[in-house]
Amino acid sequence: MENEVAGAFFIDMVYLDKNSLPRCLKYAILASVFWTPHKENTMLIEFTLPSNPSQTIRLREATVADVLDFTAVDPRCEEQATSLFLERMQEKETYSDPRKWTGEDRRFALFQYFLNTTNEKSVPLSYSCSICGGKHTQEIAFKKIADAYTPISGDAFREVVHEGHNIVVKPLNGADLETVERLRFDLELTEDRLEEQNLSPTQLRALTEELRQQRTRIYMLMMICRIDMPYLDPAGTPASRRDAVMDVVQKMPLREFHELEEKVSAAIIEMRHGLRTSYVDGQIALEIPDVKCLKNPEAPGILLRYPFRFSSIIPRL
Ligand SMILES: [Zn+2]
Repeated sequence: MENEVAGAFFIDMVYLDKNSLPRCLKYAILASVFWTPHKENTMLIEFTLPSNPSQTIRLREATVADVLDFTAVDPRCEEQATSLFLERMQEKETYSDPRKWTGEDRRFALFQYFLNTTNEKSVPLSYSCSICGGKHTQEIAFKKIADAYTPISGDAFREVVHEGHNIVVKPLNGADLETVERLRFDLELTEDRLEEQNLSPTQLRALTEELRQQRTRIYMLMMICRIDMPYLDPAGTPASRRDAVMDVVQKMPLREFHELEEKVSAAIIEMRHGLRTSYVDGQIALEIPDVKCLKNPEAPGILLRYPFRFSSIIPRL
């Protein structure tokens, strides 16, 4: 009954107030209050977290009630939806908070769920080919995606020294990605406005500039979420220090900032884990390497980014 009530609230809000940010926040709060984990398990999918192979996670298969709740998810709230989905599908005995998992853990969990609940062996991916300029659709085998899996080497953080201080670098986690997702709303609204017809050159310039600023804001937020400076307040927490970290970064001379960027990106590469992924404007994508042009199979393969979204894994009735 509790689940039905929460589901009703959730679906109502999606249809009543489709475009606003507060709806997303409201549904997340309501969902946390009303949704309780199911007790009946129909099938368990077991895997270990790529960022912490000692942590085993078990997911059950979605029920009809789950499908009804989750098919109404707005694609722009996918990180919030991912948190709710992974919370709800987890077996209680091995439960851990998916907001604390890395983005790669969460994507791997969704991929595992998808692999274990679909009869498909591949997915068609349509793209504009950078070799011949044409449009291709190719079947990408799930095995090719799964083969790129790697567990993390060492712990899911690194310490780098910058200007005499120890800085902790960590991959983005679910809570970070939910924050980034909120900024993406503005970006997507601007992108939609750029698609409008009859824009004057002045409007076009202003919107292009707005888009650039919004992308920079997302990039900066991702940078701040990835670093912590414990020396600023050793008794505090990464969350309580975040404003102070932002302040330090904003006051950095550009050359010093670029040096920090390089150290952070090297540490993130060193911590690569899970499936092969990258972020595009704050949104995670699976990377499919070495995809051959259909017209020029002898040419070197290209790297495709597959937007493996929450909505792709949700089962339909
Ligand atoms: Zn081609």
